Amino acid sequence: MIVADKKPIEEIISEIETYTNVLILGCNECVTVCEAGGKKEVGILASALRMHFLKEGKEVKIDEITLERQCDHEYLEEIRAAIDGYDAVVSLACGVGVQFMAETYPLPVYPGVNTCFLGATEKRGLWTERCQACGQCILARTAGICPVSRCAKRLFNGPCGGSTRGACEINKEVDCAWQLIIDRLKDLDRLDDYEQLSPIKDWSTDRAGGPRKVVREDLQQ
Ligand code: SF4
Ligand code: SF4
Repeated sequence: MIVADKKPIEEIISEIETYTNVLILGCNECVTVCEAGGKKEVGILASALRMHFLKEGKEVKIDEITLERQCDHEYLEEIRAAIDGYDAVVSLACGVGVQFMAETYPLPVYPGVNTCFLGATEKRGLWTERCQACGQCILARTAGICPVSRCAKRLFNGPCGGSTRGACEINKEVDCAWQLIIDRLKDLDRLDDYEQLSPIKDWSTDRAGGPRKVVREDLQQ
């Protein structure tokens, strides 16, 4: 899923303090799971903003809506009838949702979260990166552990030699991805795979090649 983190409320206040009708717009998908932008977080942020503006003696109307998804025209249409009543939106969706919202409606849209990475929930309050959407998945060769997102140096043919007791030399709190790969290959009795040199990775499908798209003509007919 896409993992996001809440923005400091001071940053949000500084973006919206000149407006009088503000919509806080949540999303029921990834940002709900990582507790950054779902209905609950919309309610907490809206209450905190109302309190702030009340204390400041400013009349600012703060409304709350949470859509099923903000990265989907179908769900964004649900607020078309109401949107004219607002002069700004704080979107708690990921960066994709914020942009889709801004493309769909002609009013200022501000991000209420920082979109961080594609990751997994290890436990409540701990999310870790697992994928950088490189566009050519090589997990088949690396025992299901991604060296693109989990090795600090993005190495493809074994470790750099700097790890200590299984920890990455860049950060002792982080497992060495290659130690994990080797351990898992051992467990799977596939250490022979480790001896095979990986071909040079084709980075043309990675972000370095510019904005990407997936076209499925079979679905477009
Ligand atoms: S190899 Fe690429 S697509 Fe596969 S998990 Fe890693 S970053 Fe994601
Ligand atoms: S210690 Fe392991 S994870 Fe860290 S950079 Fe070296 S090979 Fe990659």
